[in-house]
Amino acid sequence: MGTPTFAELGLSTKVLDAVTSAGYETPTPIQAGAIPHALAGKDVLGIAQTGTGKTAAFVLPMISRIEKGRARARMPRTLILEPTRELAAQVEENFIKYGKNHRLNIALLIGGVSFDEQDRKLERGADVLIATPGRLLDHFERGKLLLTGVDILVIDEADRMLDMGFIPDIERICKLIPFTRQTLFFSATMPPEITKLTEQFLQAPVRVEVARPSTTAANVTQRIVKSKGKAWDKRETLRNLIRAEEAELKNAIIFCNRKVDVSELFRSLIKHEFDAGALHGDMDQRARMATLEGFRAGKLKLLVASDVAARGLDIPDVSHVFNFDVPIHAEDYVHRIGRTGRAGRSGKAFTIVTRSDQKYLDAIEKLTGQDIEWLDGDLTSLSTDAEDEAPARGRGRSGSKTRGGKTRDAKEAKETREKAEKAADKSERTEKSERKDNIREANAARADNADRKRGQRKPDKEDGDAPLGFGEDMPDFMKIAIRA
Ligand code: AMP
Repeated sequence: MGTPTFAELGLSTKVLDAVTSAGYETPTPIQAGAIPHALAGKDVLGIAQTGTGKTAAFVLPMISRIEKGRARARMPRTLILEPTRELAAQVEENFIKYGKNHRLNIALLIGGVSFDEQDRKLERGADVLIATPGRLLDHFERGKLLLTGVDILVIDEADRMLDMGFIPDIERICKLIPFTRQTLFFSATMPPEITKLTEQFLQAPVRVEVARPSTTAANVTQRIVKSKGKAWDKRETLRNLIRAEEAELKNAIIFCNRKVDVSELFRSLIKHEFDAGALHGDMDQRARMATLEGFRAGKLKLLVASDVAARGLDIPDVSHVFNFDVPIHAEDYVHRIGRTGRAGRSGKAFTIVTRSDQKYLDAIEKLTGQDIEWLDGDLTSLSTDAEDEAPARGRGRSGSKTRGGKTRDAKEAKETREKAEKAADKSERTEKSERKDNIREANAARADNADRKRGQRKPDKEDGDAPLGFGEDMPDFMKIAIRA
């Protein structure tokens, strides 16, 4: 049997109409696999990642199923749990898009937004409640929410929930919802903790699995670009790249491995008068949404992001991806460059590589089964400058005596720091309620880093061992190792 049409999946006429308006013609594999079972009221275990159309795979059957009936005050009829506020907001957009022929009451419970408005929406009765776990439990504890009326529960991005330490919350929430509910469960991967969770909370689920891409799209031109190892060298390499690509560059995502590097690079780009925004876990909700919206609407050209902040975000049509850092996990490379070249368009992906990145590059080439071309000669064509191998990532960077004897990096850092402090002040979190989710998000990023460091790379020295008191201008002799 070939691919079914949307009409063959059993969706209601109103939903089909909205799908047609959205311009979708053929269901994606996860949609074709999951929708008929979800409509039949079965539990579904969907193994699929973002970009596969998995959101519609649960949103469409849910809207069809809740067409009849009304919500009661404080008793939502369905609950969708999302690990981050952006993902929750994205799911809300999907409900609005596919529910355009319905009068759905949708409530979004996420951190960073006042409780009052959320309370009002709950009070009105929600057909669809979309929430991050922390904020949902906050509402529950305040007595504003009863979960005994939930007929359909969706747990989305479960493996990310695990990364972020949300599993105990999820377990607690599952126990607050009637056993007779339908559960739709989605995860990109199935680590043992997630399997255990599905065994505990799903009943005879239908398993629908969609292949994880390990290959990169042929329509994306990939190049690796050599750079000396210092942060400022890498920044200069990046700036040159962006300028060289200017004619073709519509918009770009620039990936860094760590949060601190996202901020630092963002400040530097602003200082150099690039049209840039940043996305990382510590920003407040409004600032993140505004950045994302600006980028989607084409008002912002460059978006600096970490994997954690960007994962799962639906940002269509990006012309370029720049990897400021080589990703430590090879799969992240596939994810990152999958941001460009969508829907058959052509895209370009550049990865800045320093000497210490060789093994990560090898892992990427092994995973994707292809050798990536160098843009302009490989690392052997770099001069071997002793200073070059100084730590390149993170705070406490060494190095500043630069060409011409100027303390260029120090100066740059000082100016950008001043600017950025203002920006940072703005994005200072103000609401207590937001803190919970944010702390977890930050912990997740930290844990992620710790795992990565533990498992795969030497600790980043510059994080902890940089001598204090020298600012940006640490003299070279301080970097000579002493014998114990
Ligand atoms: P998701 O995996 O849910 O994040 O969806 C990824 C992207 O695919 C979103 O931009 C959707 O709007 C789009 N999409 C979802 N279903 C379809 C479909 N059947 N055909 C084409 N695009 C789709």
